[in-house]
Amino acid sequence: MLNNRLTTTYCGHSETRERLHQTCLQRTLKLATHETGHMFSIKHCKKYHCNMQGSNHQQESDSQPMALCPECHAKIVFASGCHPQTRFEQLAEFCDAHNMTDEAAYYRKAIETIAKKKHKQN
Ligand SMILES: [Zn+2]
Ligand SMILES: [Zn+2]
Repeated sequence: MLNNRLTTTYCGHSETRERLHQTCLQRTLKLATHETGHMFSIKHCKKYHCNMQGSNHQQESDSQPMALCPECHAKIVFASGCHPQTRFEQLAEFCDAHNMTDEAAYYRKAIETIAKKKHKQN
């Protein structure tokens, strides 16, 4: 079994394998979800800090969030027909399973916001 605490050198920096795995996973997910957004005809987002922002280099890509802004989220919901709360629940579960705690917390907050809005409407 691979020891994830071993360090290795990447771009001149010593990193744990666990940290490199998380960086690779985050970059892959951000790119895949961004490109999937384009497959749904969503253009680059220029209004918010959002997964659908364009980027010109890796540092810029790394600074962008995994999540979509409310406008791009609405576009994905419209284009895919998914249920917003179910989408956030599944994303939170995925993030929990892959040690992406900040992202999981973001999606749980989104679920809470939807629940509060539903409560106010009733
Ligand atoms: Zn793009
Ligand atoms: Zn956006």
